[in-house]
Amino acid sequence: MPVHAVVGANWGDEGKGRMTDRLAAEADFVVRFQGGRNAGHTIVNEYGRFALHLLPSGVFRPEVVNVLGPGVALDVPALLAELASLAERGVPTPRLRVSDRAQVVLPFHVLLDEREEDRLGAARFGSTRAGIAPFYADKAAKLGVQVADLSDAARLRARLEAALVPKNVLLRHLYGCRELHAGDLVPRLLDQGERIAQYVCDTSALLHDALASGRRVLVEGQLGSLRDVDHGVYPFSTSSSPLAGHACVGAGVPPTAFERIVAVTKAYSSCVGATPFVTELEGDVADCLRRLGNEYGATTGRPRRVGWFDAVATRYGCRVQGATEVAVTLLDVLGAFDEIPVCTAYELDGERTQRFPTCGALERARPCYETLLGWREDVSKARRLHELPAAARAYVDRIEEWIGVPVRWISVGPERDALIARH
Ligand code: GDP
Ligand code: MG
Repeated sequence: MPVHAVVGANWGDEGKGRMTDRLAAEADFVVRFQGGRNAGHTIVNEYGRFALHLLPSGVFRPEVVNVLGPGVALDVPALLAELASLAERGVPTPRLRVSDRAQVVLPFHVLLDEREEDRLGAARFGSTRAGIAPFYADKAAKLGVQVADLSDAARLRARLEAALVPKNVLLRHLYGCRELHAGDLVPRLLDQGERIAQYVCDTSALLHDALASGRRVLVEGQLGSLRDVDHGVYPFSTSSSPLAGHACVGAGVPPTAFERIVAVTKAYSSCVGATPFVTELEGDVADCLRRLGNEYGATTGRPRRVGWFDAVATRYGCRVQGATEVAVTLLDVLGAFDEIPVCTAYELDGERTQRFPTCGALERARPCYETLLGWREDVSKARRLHELPAAARAYVDRIEEWIGVPVRWISVGPERDALIARH
């Protein structure tokens, strides 16, 4: 009863969407287990170019059942808009199931996220303002609303009243906004419940039965290891866990069912928000990487920070994922450089280390580079390993040595087939 995972080994935006879309060819179910509409998973296939936010990346395969598990931050209007936009662009209606235990992003989560980022000013985190942190805070504080509550008006109202007591103190006294009333929100949320009713079920039972009958489940992480709320660069992390280990919880599948964990990493680094980022580049080289890699947020459009490959961070990222194999993406972008530095250690407080430290120390870490030869060639047409120049193969070999996990896939373009299977 195999579960496979596609997860990020870095700061997010590693190309998980393209890998999931491709590997979904061998899956019966594709499951999102955490995060919300703040994802931007880019997929280029026969229907065009898409940035998926909340929908699992199996939606382009009509035979796949796509599942939003209980760990997801379910933004119902965003989900409905995303489904409508796929239909408009000619994508066959995907099969979709939504967990009755998933919790719902409420209008005040988004409001509080926006107001808090504004209040923080220069100290802001660079939130996508999708309400994710307030949503997970409420979930942990037991003030959340589950999908099942959207069909029970009395219960919904009571849950909202409980959640709004502390919210209204903040809204009024910290942010200077007007207070909210449960009665005003109930009709809107009941309507949301009706609109998604056709998709709602006990997805944990669905996946349990599927695995028992030998069906294949692929879980898809949002963001990457370094954004994990426990193992990442806290507080520049996200509010949930993007680790494959957490997929057991957020999707509702047994840990013993995991057979294969594909950690995705770029051939260089990119990062958004205010995170310490050891290999960050500026100037012409950064501009070149950003232009060739199209490094602009799939959801936000904001320019991403870019840098050379960070083997220290990626080895750590693969380790906390429990990766069994690695996919290296965007190798084609590095064809523009004569020489390619790779960060293989940090200098931290006068010592050389290969340990990925906690956030405060990471701010003081400086990169130690080894420089590899570039290949100065367009590799985007390569589909087999031997079609890559020797220097490009050597680059991947070295990455594999540094991170200590077999590189099974090399991606050389955003399109579904621009992928080389290695080994
Ligand atoms: P995700 O959030 O991990 O799914 O990644 P994003 O979609 O946010 O960012 C990855 C970006 O790289 C997208 O623009 C993809 O279309 C693009 N991409 C993925 N793989 C490749 C590749 O091998 N080469 C190139 N040039 N672009 C790629
Ligand atoms: Mg992304």
